[in-house]
Amino acid sequence: MVTCAQCAAPAVIEDLDAQPPAPWCLGCATTLVRAGDPVVNYRPLGGKDEYARVLAGGSTAVLPFR
Ligand SMILES: [Zn+2]
Repeated sequence: MVTCAQCAAPAVIEDLDAQPPAPWCLGCATTLVRAGDPVVNYRPLGGKDEYARVLAGGSTAVLPFR
């Protein structure tokens, strides 16, 4: 199991623009999308690509409005 570069959560994607490729969990990847700096060149880890939904639909699919 690969863990996120930023926290201890399991990584769902790997940022291929980083050198070496940086693993991100869904929470941290979503934070980057919200910050306007989404990871676009990536490889999904673990078979299903939940992050694609975040990228396509923005962050509201994952995090509720505050
Ligand atoms: Zn994380």
